[in-house]
Order: sequence, then C-alpha cells, then structure tokens
Amino acid sequence: MSEANISENIKKIKAQLPENVTLVAVSKTKPVSDIMEAYRAGQRVFGENKVQEMEAKWQELPKDIEWHMIGHVQRNKVKYMAPFVNLIHAVDSQRLLKEINKRAKENDRVIDCLLQLKIAEEESKYGMDRQQMQDLLASGVLDHYKNVNVIGLMGMATFTDNEAQISREFDSLQQFYNTHKEAHRFSELSIGMSGDYLLALRHGSTMVRVGSAIFGER
Ligand SMILES: *Cc1c(COP(=O)(O)O)cnc(C)c1O
Repeated sequence: MSEANISENIKKIKAQLPENVTLVAVSKTKPVSDIMEAYRAGQRVFGENKVQEMEAKWQELPKDIEWHMIGHVQRNKVKYMAPFVNLIHAVDSQRLLKEINKRAKENDRVIDCLLQLKIAEEESKYGMDRQQMQDLLASGVLDHYKNVNVIGLMGMATFTDNEAQISREFDSLQQFYNTHKEAHRFSELSIGMSGDYLLALRHGSTMVRVGSAIFGER
C-alpha cells in the first residue's frame, strides 16, 4: 500500500483544474498497483520519463490508458514506444522529430508531440533555445513530417521556491506560445508540476504534469 491517498489527491487536484486542462498523472518509479488505484479513481492519462518503464507498464495495464512520455528521449528508444505512445512532451531537436516520424510511419500512426523550449534561468541540459525553435518552426519541416503532429509546447521552470522567478519563466514561454499558436495551430501548453501547477494555470497551461502531489514522494 502506498502512503499517499491517491484517489483523494486526484479528486482534490481535478477540482482545481478548469475543464480544458488535462491532468497528466506522473507515475514514474511508482508500481502498477498505484497506477491502478488512480485508474479506479477515473484517471486515464499517465506520464513516464523512461521509455522502457513506460512500455512495461503499458503491457501490463488496461489499454484505455493514455501514455505520455514526459522525459528526455534518446532517438534509439523511440521504436519501443512508437506502437502506443499518445503524446511525446519533450521533443528538443529536428533529428528526434525525424526519428519519431519514421517509427510512427512504420506503425501506421500519427504521433502527437510537443516541442520543449528551454525556459529555466538555471543551466539546464534539455530543450531548444528560442532561436533554434524559431528556426525549426520557420523551416516548414513540421509540415514535411506526415506522421508527427506537433500540437504545442512544453517547458520546465527552474527548480526553486522563488515564485517570481518561476512566474517569469512561465510567462516567457506563454508569450512565445501565443506568438506562434495560430500559425502552427497549437492547442497545448504543457507547464506545471506538483509545486507550481496553480501558477502554471495562470500562465495558460492546458496540461499539468503532477507526480508527487498524487503518488507521494519518490
Ligand atoms: C517528474 C516530472 C514531473 C512531475 O514532478 P512532481 O514534482 O513529482 O510533480 C513533471 N514533469 C517532468 C518532465 C518530470 O520529469
């Protein structure tokens, strides 16, 4: 048994979210029994950050679960999730997009993706900077890849208690999103985790990725 009251936590968080906002329950490192507890509370969207762990859970769990890959993806792992993944949140290069397109095509699927913009003021390894993303969007390659559908953007704020800083970082992503939204028919902005999802809602989040506030500390 888990320490956390998973179904209560889900109810509490859902009650705080507007109807257009998707709750991605981040179940990384947690056992399938915890996921089933969330499932029985009505949760259907789960996020994982390791491809093999997600694949093992997909094999074992009900097939109406939507699996989101929220972590950094290595290109050689894409083939393992291409048959079933519903949304890849952190696409940070054209080479990765190309690989997803190839594997999606092999599976006769179109895979939804988000592009990750680097917004944290701290040194962070992942995500494109503004110039890289602008170049990618302007290049027209998104239309060229028929088996990927880029439906929006994702970002991760600095790991800090400083709300003003997180707010600044979310704001910069929201502005970038709004600038490009119409031209690229974006509909999803994935920002907000356990510690900052209420703040993210005020910055236009349509998808919050919440782990520890549902399942307890990892
Ligand atoms: C782990 C993780 C989360 C969830 O973090 P919590 O603080 O537990 O809510 C969200 N997004 C990404 C990319 C993660 O890796």
